[in-house]
Amino acid sequence: MRAASQVLEEHRVELSTLDREIGDGDHGENMNRGFGALVTALERDAPDSPGGVLKLAATTLISKVGGAAGPLYGTAFLRAATAVKDAAELDADLVAKALRAALDGVVARGKAELGDKTMVDALLPAVRAAEEAAGRGEDVPTLLKAAAEAAAEGADSTVLLVARKGRASYLGERSVGHLDPGARSTSLLLRTFADVASG
Ligand code: ADP
Ligand code: MG
Ligand code: MG
Repeated sequence: MRAASQVLEEHRVELSTLDREIGDGDHGENMNRGFGALVTALERDAPDSPGGVLKLAATTLISKVGGAAGPLYGTAFLRAATAVKDAAELDADLVAKALRAALDGVVARGKAELGDKTMVDALLPAVRAAEEAAGRGEDVPTLLKAAAEAAAEGADSTVLLVARKGRASYLGERSVGHLDPGARSTSLLLRTFADVASG
């Protein structure tokens, strides 16, 4: 989460610039505020399990990010926390389950489908790649690397799509030609988790 906060800080301007093109220009600020608050909360009182950290991420992001992304990422982390229960460590199967639960949460909350030009276009392929990797018996770093690569490809695919959910959908066809900011932040998060897991 600390690494994620740092990466989101580095990409703050980029994410808000993407959001300025097809939204209201605040996605970088929103994500930064949320993950900054999460790092502060972790410094104050770090939970001693992965599930506890995921739950703290959920509650912090829900209260600090705002907009569309806050409740969506908050729900994603909350469902992930529920999926890993009180496991002391996350193996590949649990990481795949957590990612699937996160996606299900985003879809339950936002009702976006693949191709609607949202974070789902990054997260759904990532979940599929993670489940395939877990099925092959890969370790966590390999699984997360596969998920991150699929997310990056999925995020890039949003450039050609017409937005059907969120603020960008107000633009209709004019949203074509722009990368979706939420898909980009999802891709950045997964790449960071992969990098941290690889050590
Ligand atoms: P807001 O649009 O309220 O300013 P943000 O700018 O922080 O919120 O987040 C925008 C991102 O949220 C979009 O780029 C998109 O990826 C994601 N998003 C918006 N609506 C939905 C939805 N219904 N389902 C999934 N993701 C969505
Ligand atoms: Mg916005
Ligand atoms: Mg906004």
